[in-house]
Amino acid sequence: MALGAIGPPRIAGPQRETAIARIRNLALVLGDQLASEPAALAGLDPAHDAVWMAENEAEATHVWSHKQRLALFFAAMRHHRDALRKRGWTVHYHALKADRRRDSGRNFGAILAAAVRRLRPEMLIVAEPGDWRVRALLVATAERLSVPLTIRPDTHFYCGTDEFRDWAAGRKRLVMEDFYRHMRRRHDILMQGNDPVGGRWNLDRDNRERYPADGPPPTLGPVSFPPDAVTRDVLDLVATRYPDHPGRLEDFDLPVTPAQARTALTDFVGHRLPDFGRWQDAMWSGEVFGHHSRLSAALNLHLLNPREAVAAAVAAHAEGRAPLNSVEGFVRQILGWREFVRGVYWLHMPDYADRNALGAELPVPRAYWDGETDMRCVSESMRGVLDHGYAHHIQRLMVLGLFALLAGVDPKAFHEWHMAMYCDAVDWVSLPNALGMSQYGDGGLLATKPYCASGNYIHRMSDYCRGCRFDHRRASGADACPVTTLYWDFLDRHHDKLRGNRRLVFQVKNLERKRRDRPEMAAIRNRAVELRRRLAAGEFI
Ligand code: FAD
Repeated sequence: MALGAIGPPRIAGPQRETAIARIRNLALVLGDQLASEPAALAGLDPAHDAVWMAENEAEATHVWSHKQRLALFFAAMRHHRDALRKRGWTVHYHALKADRRRDSGRNFGAILAAAVRRLRPEMLIVAEPGDWRVRALLVATAERLSVPLTIRPDTHFYCGTDEFRDWAAGRKRLVMEDFYRHMRRRHDILMQGNDPVGGRWNLDRDNRERYPADGPPPTLGPVSFPPDAVTRDVLDLVATRYPDHPGRLEDFDLPVTPAQARTALTDFVGHRLPDFGRWQDAMWSGEVFGHHSRLSAALNLHLLNPREAVAAAVAAHAEGRAPLNSVEGFVRQILGWREFVRGVYWLHMPDYADRNALGAELPVPRAYWDGETDMRCVSESMRGVLDHGYAHHIQRLMVLGLFALLAGVDPKAFHEWHMAMYCDAVDWVSLPNALGMSQYGDGGLLATKPYCASGNYIHRMSDYCRGCRFDHRRASGADACPVTTLYWDFLDRHHDKLRGNRRLVFQVKNLERKRRDRPEMAAIRNRAVELRRRLAAGEFI
């Protein structure tokens, strides 16, 4: 998230602050650019240049935002401000106050405009924001104030936006696997000469185990970072200022500094990476993080550099501390998927955000805000979302995303919900994943097929169906699993669009067979209509 405002900037009235000596460059450090060495500051001099940062109301409220997400950004920003000041930088910092009446409530553009009028910098410098709207807003604000703005490439990422554009040019389809191999070669990661270490590029086939019947073995971590005084202030601010926002603050323990992010990486590599691969897709009741790294928020705020994460995993393999399937799987997520979705975002924005290939229109289910539902897969996945602003990839894609896709939730609304509820959500990464990969809103630009499956998939990969009031095998009737009902209904409703997809041949054939059982198909359709009506009305399921 770049802490940027939505809508046109409102220029503040005359400033009461006293003008200070004119500075040369004002480096704008956004809330998701908190690296120890931010790209915006490279080559600048604390004697002549200064830093500007702003917590802002609009970002906190334009979409409903999880309390922990707000706390994470503000706490990490305040720590970053303090670290820069210690290093001799002048940081002009706009902090929100717990009492709304005590601050101006100005939006991002207006706060920046006031600072520019007061400080009169010769130049504004910013690293590429993580949000298309924020970039547009900065450009417009600078133009309005007649101050030059330099937008620097964001060196946090392996692949620059121009480099991705070059890679994509002339390709009929953008396939993540092709991009990933290109990145492996280009950065010489897990390579033996021209070949991949171990002989295979992608070990995904080895990474689909479910947990043993009695559940996952006890795992260590993720390491917890108890809030210090700076973070406690922020937690108080959020609790007082945003009491009605979703989620809980009690368990806030995320890394908020680069040093803590590094500790979190070491903890993951030492304790969970060895089994990360095999259990990457597994889910279990009460198990929020499983063998996942929980590093996405630290990565996306740039507290952790992706090169460090990749290097640590590769070193663990080289030293025999983690098997190749785990290490290659982890590297693929960061060097492949993470860089790929960013490239797709900047290549296709701004119209990407409005794509809705399947014409889906339902609102996000009510249970996605409060976790209240009889569907155990949803309530279990929502546990981590509400307590930690977190769910792991398979819960996002194959439970919460799957159910929304099958029901027909508006993909942009699903993305906005995602932005609101996850600590790691920033526009460049949430939009392609939520609207594209998960909801197929982009019609297959990011993923080669919709990720659709019946309740049987969830049963296979978790214990969620045990003790659930719905039966994952049943597609019709009051006890039928809503995922299973809506799966057949989804294939049925979109049959004409999906039947040409080679990766769905098996599923489409099964539907065609099922359609021969007319009474069953009619019962499925009726039940699906009723489920969708209840979801549209925000009723309990
Ligand atoms: P791990 O499973 O340990 O993976 C390691 C790292 O790989 C992650 O920290 C992340 O940085 C990266 N990664 C893995 N998959 C992806 C991916 N598809 N795209 C980008 N990076 C990836 N990730 C976000 O960082 N922010 C989001 O807003 C976001 N929205 C998502 C929405 C949906 C609907 C889906 C299906 C996925 C989304 N992802 C998002 C990707 C992925 O689910 C999360 O990165 C991951 O679950 C974070 O948990 P972790 O750090 O434990 O990841």
